Amino acid sequence: MSTSRRKFIKISALGLGGVATAASTFNSLGVNSYLEDFALENALKKLNQTATYCEVCFWKCAAWVHSDDQGAIHKIIGNDIDPHCNGRLCPRGTGGVGMFTDTDRLKTPLIRKMVNGETTFVEASWDEALNLIASKMKGIKDTHGAESMALLKHGSPGKHFEHLFKAYGSDSIAEPAYAQCRGPRETGFGLTFGSWVGSPEPTDIRDTKCLVLIGSHIGENMHNTQVQEMSDAIDNDATIITVDPRLSTAASKSQHWLAIKPATDIALLLAWMHVLIDENLYDKAYVDKYATGFNELKEHVKDYTPEWAYGITTIKPEAIRKTARVMAAAAPSTIIHPGRHVTWYGDDTQRARAIAILNGLLGSWGRRGGFYFKEKTSISKYPHPPYPKPKWGWEQIGENYPFAEMGITNELIRASIPSEENKFPIKGWVVAGTNLNNSIPNKKLLEEAIDSLEFMVVVDTMPMEITGYADVVLPECTYLERYDDIRSATNREPSIALRMPAVQPKYDSKPAWWMAKQLGERLGLHDYFKYEDYKEVISWQLEQLGTSLEELEKIGVKKFKRKSGSMYLSEDQNYEFSTDSGKIEFYSQQLAVLGFDPIPKYTKHPEPAAGFYRLNYGRSPMHTFSRTVNNPNLNDLKSENDLWVNPKVAKILDLKKGQYVWLENQDGVQSSFPIRVRVTERIRWDSVYMVHGFGHNNKKLGRAHGKGASDTELISQVTIDPLMGGTGMRGNFVKILTENPTKTVAV
Ligand code: SF4
Repeated sequence: MSTSRRKFIKISALGLGGVATAASTFNSLGVNSYLEDFALENALKKLNQTATYCEVCFWKCAAWVHSDDQGAIHKIIGNDIDPHCNGRLCPRGTGGVGMFTDTDRLKTPLIRKMVNGETTFVEASWDEALNLIASKMKGIKDTHGAESMALLKHGSPGKHFEHLFKAYGSDSIAEPAYAQCRGPRETGFGLTFGSWVGSPEPTDIRDTKCLVLIGSHIGENMHNTQVQEMSDAIDNDATIITVDPRLSTAASKSQHWLAIKPATDIALLLAWMHVLIDENLYDKAYVDKYATGFNELKEHVKDYTPEWAYGITTIKPEAIRKTARVMAAAAPSTIIHPGRHVTWYGDDTQRARAIAILNGLLGSWGRRGGFYFKEKTSISKYPHPPYPKPKWGWEQIGENYPFAEMGITNELIRASIPSEENKFPIKGWVVAGTNLNNSIPNKKLLEEAIDSLEFMVVVDTMPMEITGYADVVLPECTYLERYDDIRSATNREPSIALRMPAVQPKYDSKPAWWMAKQLGERLGLHDYFKYEDYKEVISWQLEQLGTSLEELEKIGVKKFKRKSGSMYLSEDQNYEFSTDSGKIEFYSQQLAVLGFDPIPKYTKHPEPAAGFYRLNYGRSPMHTFSRTVNNPNLNDLKSENDLWVNPKVAKILDLKKGQYVWLENQDGVQSSFPIRVRVTERIRWDSVYMVHGFGHNNKKLGRAHGKGASDTELISQVTIDPLMGGTGMRGNFVKILTENPTKTVAV
């Protein structure tokens, strides 16, 4: 990706400005392995134990960091009483210390400047960088209104900047975790059950008798307790049914692997509904009591027989009937898993609706072994004046998508491109904790938007690709070096967890709360930041919960009693769902009124042309998106991705195991780097598969640069979900090139 005005800079900062001054002994420990080993050896005698919750992914497992007085971290282990991890971290969480020790980290603020006719980054002091950002934010507010500054965020740093943005007067906020990931399932389940699925998902896997994974890769998608519970369920003889064009890890543990033709899930889901209703296998008492629209659903699916679905999905009718009967026999302890990353074909909210309806027919929502009623503890807001009300924000920017419940990142990006029709012009971005280059499809749009901006700030711990396009780069310290908000997540029982610094921030990095406060003060928003240290905020919030910082420092996690009643529906209960009708909505009046299908329909999606294969992507248990690929500990475990290719395809193209190939998509976009071939029966002949997050093109990511291919770069076709604006990204096709198409990249 290259832009004309905002040329990518490879963070090779010239030391012309205020050079980092806060570098300390920690720096030398980070770069001198002899000293580091020496420190480790000596410190083994005396380790400090500090409470945190993991930020390697967003399951947020609570943990203990073991560090010494010299500032070295020896290990991170799970907190035994935490319901997110039960005392066990996944391999990524254990390797989280690599985020701290990575010598490629951003070390000091950087400002884009013109030096000798060349645009470059110049090291700057915090004052210089923050003053510049504050003056640009003031300028944009005065000229265009505060609404024209947008925040694109992910994870903990985003929360602190969200507070700053709301105080400043902008609600133009979005995160790729919605429209590029989970959004469709939240909208689909919300329309059906009146409740988002949320994270962690309230799937009662530990007690399930039948778990159906449809395009969901538990095991590769390493969300800690979900994997632990699935393993327990397998030990307890639960039936696992996996629907996937690839024999995933989960599929290999399943009694039934349905190798579905990609892009046909809704046809299978409708056929399963048909069997349940036709054979009277659905939970009649539950449906009569809690659901509405059953008759319309029955009429809708009457012709969607397994024979009809066979022609679409390639799954044999007897396999469809058999698996429907297995699900029904285990019901209500059956889970059709809602999935997590579900932005595939543009009809993803309807796909999620179909999954939700199937769960409704099986009576699994609110039942043991199905979905439990989750609960969380609410954390009091630290006192501050009310936020000003912006004239417009994410809702107006996404107004074409009536069921969007959060900012749509791609729409904010679109609103950053000036045009006559653009009523909501975005002029500046703060990008906090998200590498847009690897999370947002349609590079052209992203490139055009970035090129149109008046000002752009990136906050990150690492020199991710997006930093190269910023006017100012702010180095954030890692989760091991900072306070963040108290974790309060939904679960079977409410719990909170503390994150506090285990060691001092390395280099001249700072926590996001500090950056937000410093900017707030420069913008005259002192009343929103009435604390010197975020510790004061946390301490006050814990007091409101009847506990204290001192207590949490000792225990890390505190559980609370449920207040909302049982996790499951009881026989005599008259539960009201939070939908318009108070019932589970098989037929959605809301959708009908707005002209959308009130019950999901199967729509045929484009198929690959001859010589092309559908590009499927997924996760590795060792990595989280692109953010961990440079982590020294995790890179050691998996340093590049490979391309799964069916032996039939390998034979046609004469591909050998381990051979490097390049990819070119339907629009002529070529992979920047080669990828190694893995010939395997575990993938259908019409698809190829790779793990997401590799193929970094920033040389400052020393371990990750040039290793493997990037799926995101090959996603130029995006089908937008008309309900909530999600970006369907699985409609891209690639051909396999055995010769380097540019001859400029060394293998
Ligand atoms: S699942 Fe693993 S990476 Fe994610 S928060 Fe838990 S320990 Fe960290």
